Amino acid sequence: MSEMNKAFIKNLPIDAVERVFAALGEKPYRAKQLFNWLYEKNVGSFHDMTNFSKELRQGLDDSYELSALVLEDRLVSALDGTEKYLFKTRDGHFIESVLIRRDGTDEGRLTVCVSSQVGCPMGCGFCQTARIGFKRNLEPAEILDQLCHVRRISDLRNNNVVFMGMGEPFLNYENVLTAADIMNYSYGFHLSVRKITISTCGILPAIERYIDEKRPYNLAISLNDADPVKRARFMPVEKKYPIESVAALLEEKFPVSRNRLTLEYIMRKDNISSEDAGRLKKMFRHGWIKLNLIPLNRGDHGMELPSVGEVERFVKELEIMNVPVSVRKSSGTDIDGACGQLSGRRYHEAK
Ligand code: SF4
Repeated sequence: MSEMNKAFIKNLPIDAVERVFAALGEKPYRAKQLFNWLYEKNVGSFHDMTNFSKELRQGLDDSYELSALVLEDRLVSALDGTEKYLFKTRDGHFIESVLIRRDGTDEGRLTVCVSSQVGCPMGCGFCQTARIGFKRNLEPAEILDQLCHVRRISDLRNNNVVFMGMGEPFLNYENVLTAADIMNYSYGFHLSVRKITISTCGILPAIERYIDEKRPYNLAISLNDADPVKRARFMPVEKKYPIESVAALLEEKFPVSRNRLTLEYIMRKDNISSEDAGRLKKMFRHGWIKLNLIPLNRGDHGMELPSVGEVERFVKELEIMNVPVSVRKSSGTDIDGACGQLSGRRYHEAK
């Protein structure tokens, strides 16, 4: 079988792996052992799976590809130790992932930000990924392998995962949820549901499906403007799925779901007025939503950055109104690893 034709083993959930082993005449517990090698031990070759017979290792190697991505480049921020990884897919596309060290050390909160699509069709005005356009969805193996590479290189054991890299995760719903389930599975990465966050710009039918299916992971929605007119200027999704409809859906369904919900709000100079704070307060009359404020990063998006003083005043105004709020520090701004800065560099270099 040619390398290009081999299936990615990491596309398979545990029940599918059990069926593969059954067809090979192997016991079902082999599936758990394989998961343990793939994710917990995170090996790079079937031949490292030493409790499998030589024939079984060779049989797996003949039919399956273990790694879906090749590491092309790794940049480390001199400012805070944030790491940005560039990967090449088997069909020659480029995607990026980011390892964020919240306090600049290994002791702090470690978060891996993964991509879900090559490029993105959503066209948000502040986002470098949008400029690539949409190429294709990533397969589960390509999502999981980002984490495998980053954990292997950085020697991570337990970290947070956020689906906030390149792409709109809810336009690749099945593959993203398959990958998240394997991250959570006890023989996979065994990450708790509280350590996995899926972010969306507001794909209404997918949010409803996610809640109805009782998916357990944290949900984050990119809000960025509480004023629908202003939001539509930077987020074309507003025209198709107005944030007011998303808010109505959340109001109806979210209180009974078990998820944690965060609304992400990138602060520009023109969305942090007292009027904006008032609109947010209205949206936050229910206390179960948290607002995550992120200062706009530099970039050629043509938008004005707020000053430190303006940000402080806006945060104070929200706090006085009892809006649950946190301010996220941007990470890796010197290596373009911060929010909205992932561009799959090679696409822009090739132009
Ligand atoms: S911000 Fe997210 S949804 Fe919007 S274009 Fe960028 S990657 Fe896509």
